[in-house]
Amino acid sequence: MSPSNQTLQSYYNEFLRCSICSHDFEYDNYLYRPITLPICGHTMCGQCIDIIRNQTKCPQDQISFGINNTLIDQLPTNYPLLFIIYDAIKLPDDNEQRYSQCLAYMKLDDETKSYFNRTQIILIETAILIKPIINDKEYQSVLSRPMIRKIFSLLNSQYIDREGRLKALKAARSLGERTCIDFILHHQNPQQLTANLWSAVRSRGCQFLGPAMQEEVLKLILLALEDGSALSRKVLVLFVVQKLAPQYPRASKTSVGHVVQLLYRASCFKVQKREEESSLMQLKSEFRNYENLRREHDSQIIQIAMEAGLRISPEQWSSLLYGDTQHKSSMQSVIDKLSTPASFSQAIQEFLIVLQRAGDSSKHLSHLKSDFEYLSQIDIGNNEQQIITNDNQQDNSNWPLIIQVLQSIKIVLQSLIEFNIQELKTNFLNKTHHYHHRSYDLSSTTFTSSTSCSSPMTVSPLGGSSTTSEYHLQPLHPPGTQQNQIKYKVFTF
Ligand SMILES: [Zn+2]
Ligand SMILES: [Zn+2]
Repeated sequence: MSPSNQTLQSYYNEFLRCSICSHDFEYDNYLYRPITLPICGHTMCGQCIDIIRNQTKCPQDQISFGINNTLIDQLPTNYPLLFIIYDAIKLPDDNEQRYSQCLAYMKLDDETKSYFNRTQIILIETAILIKPIINDKEYQSVLSRPMIRKIFSLLNSQYIDREGRLKALKAARSLGERTCIDFILHHQNPQQLTANLWSAVRSRGCQFLGPAMQEEVLKLILLALEDGSALSRKVLVLFVVQKLAPQYPRASKTSVGHVVQLLYRASCFKVQKREEESSLMQLKSEFRNYENLRREHDSQIIQIAMEAGLRISPEQWSSLLYGDTQHKSSMQSVIDKLSTPASFSQAIQEFLIVLQRAGDSSKHLSHLKSDFEYLSQIDIGNNEQQIITNDNQQDNSNWPLIIQVLQSIKIVLQSLIEFNIQELKTNFLNKTHHYHHRSYDLSSTTFTSSTSCSSPMTVSPLGGSSTTSEYHLQPLHPPGTQQNQIKYKVFTF
């Protein structure tokens, strides 16, 4: 199996089968329909849900379901996931049909039903947007794996439950920020970025010596200090340089000292001051294993980049710090931990500057500003406080918010997908791997659907009737090498 086929397969393994029994989700056999738990967002097949229906905690992570007066086997099927697996024609047309057997849904009053229906329609449209990326290797590079993971986190939320909706808001904010950053990344020159990064690191008296050597230096520092020893900086540096000499004869005290400084900056050491002698440095106990020390080290470099206003993708971090692509997800989680409520707003400002530089041709993207701003204003902190003061599950107060948020997410995602497909084509046609200024003209893209963001769609409260339409995606091959165009069925509402 080729690596790209493996990725497609792993998307299915990770997101489109039961998290307990690993059976693929199915529509025809209702035992294997996906159901999402409210708080943790684990999605399981109906059969496994039935087995744990009398329990109070998710068997995967021991997180309490926390739903009042609703049994988990009464929760609605996760249709957006099924729309990724199946042709729309194989699934029921509207929400009344979809949820007619669902007790939790039938119990809702009409207003709440219509709110719930609207969220499901937008989520199904979002699922259809990523469907080609999940199912067709021609399109899998359109969005990165961390992006896909964030989209599934949004799809794997239980919208009928208030806490499930709060989880979705969190996921939406994070996805929105990541989408905004993705636009910025696509406008940057990677070589220039790397040069700026290392100069920012050096200007702080720190240094990165390359993936292999840095790893060796960190392991030697650990060797010297993992038993809790306290050494002066000078002794520590000498020890590392001597141990390093056989493999790296040109390692200098200065460069190793710069790595120690990086860890010092990351507060990895407990420092004991001494009278008229240099201070002693001891590794804090939580950093006396490689994994934790390395994570803190990586996090410090990423923080320096953020301070310097440099945007670097998880993929690029993985290759810069490890020389491979396998650390994308852990890099993404470090970036996520460092992001603050203000970092999204900063990203929007950068996004606007980048568009300004790109000139008139960027007008196709500037309309996204309001959606990004809306997403950046999601106040997770306040919502969490509301959970404590208000445990009324039927409370409808956050429905209009969640619908607007999902709508904004769909719009920015659709634009990013169109933008990236256009860019893939441009890159392919130019057959160049070096940086060049991209054209932002999206008018010629063939990846358009009737729910294009330039013509906002209207959604009828109860889902309305749906019709199918087909559109064509041009394969990324040069014209003539492939006879058939790839066809996708798309739902319009
Ligand atoms: Zn199962
Ligand atoms: Zn769980």
